[in-house]
Amino acid sequence: MTMNGVAKHAIGKAAKDNIFGANAAAVEAAKKIGAENVTNATIGAILDDNEKLVTLPTVSKVFRTLQDNQYFAYAPIAGLADFLKLVQDDCFGASKPEGYIQAIATSGGTGAIHHTIWNYTDPNETVLTSEWYWGPYKVLCRDMNRKLDTYRMLTEDNKFDFASLEAKVKEILTKQDNILLIINTPAHNPTGYSLTPEDIAKVIEILKAETKNGKKAVLLLDVAYIDYAGEREEVRKIFKNLAHLPENIIGLVAYSLSKGYTMYGQRCGALLNVAATKEQSQEFFDVNQYSSRATWSNINRGAMQTLVTILQDEKLKADIMKERDQYYALIKERGDLFTKEAEACGLKMVPYIAGFFTSIPCTNPGAACDILHKDNIYAVPLAKGIRVALCAIPKKKVAGMAAKIKAAVDAVEK
Ligand code: PLP
Repeated sequence: MTMNGVAKHAIGKAAKDNIFGANAAAVEAAKKIGAENVTNATIGAILDDNEKLVTLPTVSKVFRTLQDNQYFAYAPIAGLADFLKLVQDDCFGASKPEGYIQAIATSGGTGAIHHTIWNYTDPNETVLTSEWYWGPYKVLCRDMNRKLDTYRMLTEDNKFDFASLEAKVKEILTKQDNILLIINTPAHNPTGYSLTPEDIAKVIEILKAETKNGKKAVLLLDVAYIDYAGEREEVRKIFKNLAHLPENIIGLVAYSLSKGYTMYGQRCGALLNVAATKEQSQEFFDVNQYSSRATWSNINRGAMQTLVTILQDEKLKADIMKERDQYYALIKERGDLFTKEAEACGLKMVPYIAGFFTSIPCTNPGAACDILHKDNIYAVPLAKGIRVALCAIPKKKVAGMAAKIKAAVDAVEK
């Protein structure tokens, strides 16, 4: 114990989240000069063109009409039985892979990532992800006494960098017998990049080749943004690759209701596993149920029931898909405008395919973001560049942004 009381492993841990920091600065500026004069590109939730938080109307309606016991009773630790069945259909769609599939309810996608790191790696091991990554991956690793390493995500000509991934997998497997690879796709946060089904197949080939000598690999697909990534069934084709994996490669999926159902604050998601054998599948279920008991116990019952009620009703299902499509189109329109303007002014961005965010590579993103504050634009400085939340900026404020970002980036990279 330290003088202040926490145990050794906890000393110095403080979540200095630069996303919330940048947002706080934008909110402060809005108070001073009026929200209409501030572009807040920091928020990771859909805001409409009046900058109001979007809640899918069907989700809101269903959630509000549940019976008392559907909110207030304890849920089973693993999750409601209907939820565990329907969440598989919702996640995989027509691309449900062959194999033994199990799901477990989690506290959002974050909970699914938490359980994966906890149950599929050992203390001090290194977890691998791409160099552009969602910051909490590192927080989760560090909190569980794991390390996070990265590979270069894209080549100079903006193709997925398989060679860098392969080299890192090789390097890590010289030091440990097991590797956890986390890939956030489609509509990657923070760049909007997506891997094709062929890309995922190649990734799996790399894992197979590198574990031939008796080592083990775990592939976690974090699909938090899948419902805003493109045509529903098209973007789900990546899952077919999880069928028929050898026993030493585990396929997992982190699913979230935060974005797809706009239930960010209701904390609901699932961890799904496609296993080669019944025994592996049972082990997945047992260890993750145990971890749930040991962390949050059980998950938000009302949120699980909302998904169940919607998915058991064809009309509600059709309604929610229509509503999502509308917001997918809204974000895409903003992304298309930003991309067009970026091209016109020569601003280099990571190829944006879809999703909530796009990113601009920059060697000094903190300084560039400070310059943007003078234009009343607030974005998030990350290790590799600047993240712009297209999900949160009305189209009229997107107009002209690319040129201002270009000026700021040029100023710091001179
Ligand atoms: N993965 C990524 C890349 C995310 O950006 C998020 C949310 O921002 C999540 C997972 C999971 O979010 P939640 O725990 O709210 O479901």
